[in-house]
Amino acid sequence: MEDLLLRGGRVGGLRQDIAIREGRIHRIAPDLAPAGYEVLEISDKLVLPGFVETHIHPDKAFIADRSDGLRAGGPTPQMLVAEQKKKFTVDDVYQRARRALELAIRHGCTTMRAHVEVDIFVEMRGVEALQRLQKDLAGALDLRLIAFAQEGIFGAQEPTKALLRDALKAGLSTLGGAPFMDTDQRGHIDWFFETAQEFGVPLDFHADSGDDIAMLTTDYIAEQTIKRRMHGRVTLGHVGMLDALPPKDRADVIAKVREAQIHVISLPATELHVKGRTDAQKTWRGVTRLGELRDAGVNIAISTNNIVNPFTPYGHPDLLRQALITAASAHLGNLDQLAWLPELFTTNSARLLGLEDYGLAEGCRADLVVLDARDAAQAITEQVEKLYVIKAGRVVARSTRTTELRLP
Ligand SMILES: [Zn+2]
Repeated sequence: MEDLLLRGGRVGGLRQDIAIREGRIHRIAPDLAPAGYEVLEISDKLVLPGFVETHIHPDKAFIADRSDGLRAGGPTPQMLVAEQKKKFTVDDVYQRARRALELAIRHGCTTMRAHVEVDIFVEMRGVEALQRLQKDLAGALDLRLIAFAQEGIFGAQEPTKALLRDALKAGLSTLGGAPFMDTDQRGHIDWFFETAQEFGVPLDFHADSGDDIAMLTTDYIAEQTIKRRMHGRVTLGHVGMLDALPPKDRADVIAKVREAQIHVISLPATELHVKGRTDAQKTWRGVTRLGELRDAGVNIAISTNNIVNPFTPYGHPDLLRQALITAASAHLGNLDQLAWLPELFTTNSARLLGLEDYGLAEGCRADLVVLDARDAAQAITEQVEKLYVIKAGRVVARSTRTTELRLP
């Protein structure tokens, strides 16, 4: 494999060359000597570090055509997917998840932490399929897996506890809960903290996705994180309930989240499809308060969540698309905000996952995306092509799509 020299790209607002050696960024400077390199001319094209998905469900991707979807008075998306999940085979999960992962790679994703459902319906079939994909795509995607209890862990799902432990023993590196799926939310949260501590793994909760503030758990999760000294090792997805809290209560919860160094992932595409359906007056957007969390110093990220299933029939693992949805749904579309939105699926996501050697600096791993834009605002607004996706110094996707304008 010949080392690459990316010539004339835009890095942090400046025109720079990037020399890559042995999978790492060797030098960043203007006008580097090209001898010994394969040169990619990327004149004035924006270079970002590889995109990082932190919350995504490849195991239940591409099943939207297996049910009628959400209808007034009909089943919840959880119920629709649970029925389908009983019929999943390892090969079925593998094929659908592979399609999702290939799309993600083609759209700039170089690292992904994905949820894998583990419960009495699907047992370990999703784990088996995703662990195969982890190996099969290793050169193109750093795939990390969360053992996720979408159906809860009490009552009929009691055996899920043993299955989750099996998944962690099989090598899954994060434990994931969903407190709202159990009546005893605190009991659910306690079991996840105890088990995560026993196995020494970080935690990820689907938390506070609804608007009934009596169900709030973020404050309790933050208290437990602090008490158990798990600062920086707990992540919450959704947290749309923050938006339903009175401002003073919201500020108190955000302060606790900040103290616990909890990471917050917003999943706006799913919120916009699922939330606010029963409200006769105002259709609540359900997206968390990203701006306030950021201002308070909380590490925030955005991610894709669902791909073509009853939760998000139009879900697509393109983080540039999620950035546009975020800009529109979270009042983050001013030019200064568009300029920092990519942090929510690059540097912030990398911090959430604890990635080492990540970023656009000499010595970092050469995970890069070259976009057909001069800056982030243009990239998001025009939803531009990803010209090159580079993983550890190797081009893993290249877009050659062009449109020929035939003007008078
Ligand atoms: Zn999710």
